[in-house]
Order: sequence, then C-alpha cells, then structure tokens
Amino acid sequence: MDEGVVTLAHGGGGSLMAELLAARVLPVLGVAEAGEDAAGVGRGLLMTTDSFVVKPLVFPGSDIGRMAVYGTVNDLAMRGGWPRAMTVGLIVEEGLSLDVLDQVVASLAAAAQECGVKIVGGDTKVLEAGRGDGLYINTTGLAEALLAERDLPSLGRARPGDAVLINGPVGEHGIAVLAAREQLGFAAEVRSDCAPLHEMARALIEELGTGVHCLHDPTRGGLAAALNEIALASGVGMRLEEGAIPRRAAVEAACELLGLDALQVANEGKMVAVVEEGMAERALKVLRADERGREGAVIGEVTEGVAGRVELVTELGTTRIVDMPSGELLPRIC
Ligand code: MG
Repeated sequence: MDEGVVTLAHGGGGSLMAELLAARVLPVLGVAEAGEDAAGVGRGLLMTTDSFVVKPLVFPGSDIGRMAVYGTVNDLAMRGGWPRAMTVGLIVEEGLSLDVLDQVVASLAAAAQECGVKIVGGDTKVLEAGRGDGLYINTTGLAEALLAERDLPSLGRARPGDAVLINGPVGEHGIAVLAAREQLGFAAEVRSDCAPLHEMARALIEELGTGVHCLHDPTRGGLAAALNEIALASGVGMRLEEGAIPRRAAVEAACELLGLDALQVANEGKMVAVVEEGMAERALKVLRADERGREGAVIGEVTEGVAGRVELVTELGTTRIVDMPSGELLPRIC
C-alpha cells in the first residue's frame, strides 16, 4: 500500500481489491466469508448490495440505471434467489443533465418492472460540481430463496466431475463500455450483454434441484475471475476447452487490438453454472431454451487437479493457466 492511502489498483478489480478487503474491511466488520454474490439472512431470504460507477452513463446496449437493476437481480439469482424488492441510492453531481437523469431513472424503473422487482425505498444525495462524475447508483436487493439455505448454489460447492457451462459469448459488456468511453470506432458495433438472468437461473434449479452446485455471474474480471473464485472456494481444479467457449468475432478483434484477453473482460448478462456430473446435457437444454442462453455451451469440467488452478486447453492442443486477473484491468466498467 502506497503512503497509507488507497490507490486505484487497490480500489479496482481482481486480487488487489480482494487483499484490501481481506486485510482491512472484512475482519473489522466480522464477515467470515466473502465473494458470494448474495448472502442468506435466514427465514428463506437472501440479500445483496452493489454500487455502479460505470462511465459513460449510457452506452451501446444499456445504461447505468438498467445495469443497477439487472446487476442486483443477477447477484440474487446466482444464489438461487427469486428477486422481490430493491432499494436505490442515487448520488448525483450538480450539473448532471436532467435529460440524462430522466433517461436513467426511466430505464431503471422499466428494468425493475420487467424483473417483477418492487422498488421499496431509496435515497438521493447531491454532490457539488466537480466532486462526482455525473451519477453513481447503489442498489440493495432482497430475494426469496428457491431452495433450503443449505442447498443453495454456492461458490464452494463445485466437485470433481462437475460440468461447467456458460450461457453465451464472453466480453461484450467491457468492450462496449470501453469503446463508448474511448470512442473506439473499430469496436463500435459491440453492444453490452446487460440482461437479467433470474428466470434462466430458476429454470435450471427447477430442472436440476440440488444438482446446481454453483452459479456465478462473470462480471468484473470476466470468466477468468469467476472460475478462479469457484475453484479457490471449492478447493478444486478446473479444465476448460478454449474451442468450446462462445465468442464474438467483433469482441475477439477488439481484444486483439487492445491487448486484452476476452476471458478477463466483464460481462453483465452471463452466468457460469457448475452442475453435477451427468447433468450437463439437461442443463444445456435449459440454458438454450431461454433467449439469453441460445448460445449456451458446456465449456469444461471440474477436476481433482491443483486446488484453485484453472487450466485452458487451447485450440492448438496446448495447455495454459487461466490466472485470476490482478489490478484494475478496465476501470469504471460497472
Ligand atoms: Mg455478482
């Protein structure tokens, strides 16, 4: 830590933020386990909270208001929750265009209605001009658990032999936001995949029950971070088939030009599912029956290999390690 202050590297994604949390925040708050998308709070309820600082506020495929709803809905869904209610905190900078504020709030309301989530409360604060960056949003969500708490999908429940699936191509959100912010013409056609996943997650749980071991949304740090988190929490290895991972040519091309790895780029409408051995085909059928899972695929399996190690078998047949992304790969993308 530099000079006793938080640096962007500490406030961003990946392992540096994890270190900051582990060393300075969680022990003080008395939180033993972190990293789950949402937490069981008893009486069949789950809670989660998230803050959104994406820049720009509106980008191809979505905006900060829609994202704030879907992000919270998805975190609840990843723990086997059916979202019911949400609170919204808006931190507005003086000088923000009222047109933009109206657009974002309308979008947030439409997204909540679409998801069947009631907005039950909120708060608004205004910062002086120059002290913010337009608009930040915090959302807190409440869900009903679809299973008994001990049976809910959890990052620590992956077992050797389990199948690993994803519902579609990786990296669209991060590239869409970056392209909008930096005016990268060559990636202008990429749209954010921002979407709610609670219906697909519920369908999977209805079909496989406790055979759904882990669900995780590969947001910041992308698929690489999500899989490393599961492998670490479960104390298992993972082997992926590069050729099986759904991709978009435009995202691949942008990543190549920018020197990025699409596996490390954020998604906002993707779900990793780790399901019990022998259930992969049934799981895939459920994903593909949902419009958000048409391009779903089985991308690998959980192994007894080195705990926490995610390996990728490339299309050339070589094997490489998929590391946990460190530092802030792409700031302000969520
Ligand atoms: Mg999440």
